[in-house]
Amino acid sequence: MTGWLTVVGLGPGAASLITPEVSMALAEATDLVGYGPYVARIPSRVGLTRHASDNRVELQRARQALDMAAAGRRVVVVSSGDPGVFAMASAIFEALEGAPQHHALNVRVLPGITAMLAAAARAGAPLGHDFCAINLSDNLKPWSLVERRLRLAAEADFAMALYNPRSASRPDQFGRALDVLREACDPSRLIVFARAISTADERIETTTLLEARPEMADMRTVVLVGSSLTRRVGRHVYTPRRAV
Ligand code: SAH
Repeated sequence: MTGWLTVVGLGPGAASLITPEVSMALAEATDLVGYGPYVARIPSRVGLTRHASDNRVELQRARQALDMAAAGRRVVVVSSGDPGVFAMASAIFEALEGAPQHHALNVRVLPGITAMLAAAARAGAPLGHDFCAINLSDNLKPWSLVERRLRLAAEADFAMALYNPRSASRPDQFGRALDVLREACDPSRLIVFARAISTADERIETTTLLEARPEMADMRTVVLVGSSLTRRVGRHVYTPRRAV
């Protein structure tokens, strides 16, 4: 029995945004590992065991997945969006670093459509020139580093995608993030709040830095901050390809 471990991204929500390659891996899996709500997105079938867990135990989940693959199971680890963007792929490699006995395992990462790309496509092309992605959660890094990166990204005039902008456990930090941006950018800077893109709860709202309020974001929102050149055209928002 040859086991394998494949880390996949399920995209932002819609089934049509799951890649055929990911669907194939899911069809071959004997075990599904991941955060409960993501595991729940995959229909159950005979021969598939689900291992749903809390999203705070990623390393433990990664070790469990590696052990199962080593025991001959065909394991798919699921993330939302892309597995390499603030998600399980890095957790798997962190676990592998500490488990030399598993280094010969067949481990693969299959890409998915990450939230910022699904959101940008809905808005138009706000990430059409240079951009960066910043995770606003301070679970795994100090908040001072988040602020520093926001400041420097604004100074470099990147468009930005802000993941994990706000959660119940950190209700105030997003307001602070907006303040940092206000110190560095013009008040007319465009901001797109893209919530639950490609799901039934989808909501997308474009506003300015001046009018942006922290309550416009929640756990299911990715926030796209334009560069100084980002502008509206009709219902859309885009960043020109030329920065001159
Ligand atoms: N791996 C995921 C990101 C996980 S971090 C990806 O590549 O998309 C979780 C954050 O992703 C959320 O807080 C939110 O900022 C963003 N997100 C995930 N799905 C989303 C969706 N359908 N619409 C808007 N934002 C989403």
